[in-house]
Amino acid sequence: MTDITVIGSNMIDLITYLDRMPVEGETIEAPSFEMGFGGKGANQAVAAARLGSDVAMITMVGNDEFGKQQLQNFKTNQINTAGVGIGSCSSGTAPIFVDPTSDNRILIIKGANAELTPAVLDQHQDLIRQTKLIVLQQEVPLETNYHAIDLAQQFGIPVLLNPAPANRELNVDYVSKVQFFTPNETELATLTGMPTTNLMEIEAAAQHLISRGVSNIIVTVGSKGALWVTVNGSQLIPGQHVHAVDTTGAGDSFIGSFAHYFAAGEPIPVALRHANEYASVTVTRYGTQKSYPTLAELDQVQT
Ligand code: ATP
Repeated sequence: MTDITVIGSNMIDLITYLDRMPVEGETIEAPSFEMGFGGKGANQAVAAARLGSDVAMITMVGNDEFGKQQLQNFKTNQINTAGVGIGSCSSGTAPIFVDPTSDNRILIIKGANAELTPAVLDQHQDLIRQTKLIVLQQEVPLETNYHAIDLAQQFGIPVLLNPAPANRELNVDYVSKVQFFTPNETELATLTGMPTTNLMEIEAAAQHLISRGVSNIIVTVGSKGALWVTVNGSQLIPGQHVHAVDTTGAGDSFIGSFAHYFAAGEPIPVALRHANEYASVTVTRYGTQKSYPTLAELDQVQT
């Protein structure tokens, strides 16, 4: 039995820091380069595992050096790798170019993440059946998520669906089958076609989904925190006041930590408060996974 099974992506971030973006046909030198472990699924799994949850990951790594490193990273973070498969192509990678003004250009190569098919899930039904919560994002094929939701429903396991990155094709009938739907403002606007530029608009868009049968919507709203919307109305769980230096991966740290606290039995508003606290620490540090504190580090920051 695990606390959380994350079904999703893993990526290797290849970050080049530039003095300026090259123009077409130009070759320039760049001052520095950094590699990082990423992918929304892997990030969320790592956040929950660092807080002490027993986490299993169902994902596909590539048939290359990055795949081996990704697998090792899961093991280093005490994540159960029984559901990690090796695909027939390259690992998922994200070449990222950042200039001194923090302007960036990002390419996403899905690689082996596209090979996480419904058939692969069927090989790991035990990890789906024996868990307290299933966590999904949208960097793997949509039909895989639909199959995961069907299996979870069959086994009576709650599902959290984080609809990132936004996908207009997402079928709202499936959204109404999950316990937690956790978009940010942009993803909520994409799915509903409604404006989400302030809290009132966000609540109206979320209520539109509630009227279509979705039970809990948690909209992350950056430094403002998170808006929890149900059929009974909405509640803003305020964010923490911190000096943010890098918000990359904040959304994933929020989802992973919320999953941890919910699977540990905390009531939803308490789990949301803790998730705001956890994510607020990650934005005070640089990087994605490397900014995610362990439980011991979190205790230290909070005392
Ligand atoms: P991303 O895609 O960049 O990871 P997101 O849009 O999915 O982010 P946000 O709403 O920006 O997610 O942030 C997620 C959570 O992180 C927020 O709900 C909040 O708890 C925390 N957070 C983000 N930015 C800040 C900030 N500047 N100060 C404090 N907390 C923050």
